[in-house]
Amino acid sequence: MSKEDLMEEVATEVMACKKCGLSKKRRNPVPGEGDLDADVLFIGEAPGYWEDVKGKPFVGSAGEILDEMLSKIGLSRNKVYIANILKCRPPENRDPSVSEVKDCVPYLDQQIKIIKPKIIVTLGRHSTSYILSRCGLEGAGIEKLHGGKYAVELLGFKVLLIPMYHPAAVLYNPKYRSALERDFQLLRGELERLGCL
Ligand code: URA
Ligand code: SF4
Repeated sequence: MSKEDLMEEVATEVMACKKCGLSKKRRNPVPGEGDLDADVLFIGEAPGYWEDVKGKPFVGSAGEILDEMLSKIGLSRNKVYIANILKCRPPENRDPSVSEVKDCVPYLDQQIKIIKPKIIVTLGRHSTSYILSRCGLEGAGIEKLHGGKYAVELLGFKVLLIPMYHPAAVLYNPKYRSALERDFQLLRGELERLGCL
């Protein structure tokens, strides 16, 4: 099966999914979008208000920050893939629950296996701790981990993990902006090193 067909299959399953209670209140599930041959996969937390309305990831104010950071390093959104830990919006954007994450992550795992990116950027503590747990690693906090790059083995292949603050953190506290900008510069450096830019 082609990557397109495989991803279509995942999206179809997500659209019909009723595995957790978030299926009851969602307007639209948000499977993810982008280039299936992307070198970089961004993993956020969960859809927010606008993502739920539009069925697309990072299209609200956090998405504006993400777009700004991408454009600063000359990376266009359609050259990356963007997904989330949860595919449906938690009410009032509350944190994902342990059981919701457990129910939903098989979709993300399938997406990772289809895309097989060279680099995974986890945005925020939820996606960072999930990906670390899949690598058999103990998760330090995002404050310690961000700014670093970690060569890990995930789902049977090697990938470089670059954990970052969630773009929404910049909206709550502007002090995170410069940290996020530095981390995107690190990403750019790695993409250049790997011959992807
Ligand atoms: N925040 C996320 O974590 N994901 C989105 O898609 C939007 C906001
Ligand atoms: Fe299914 Fe995930 Fe949506 Fe829950 S959040 S209903 S597990 S797609």
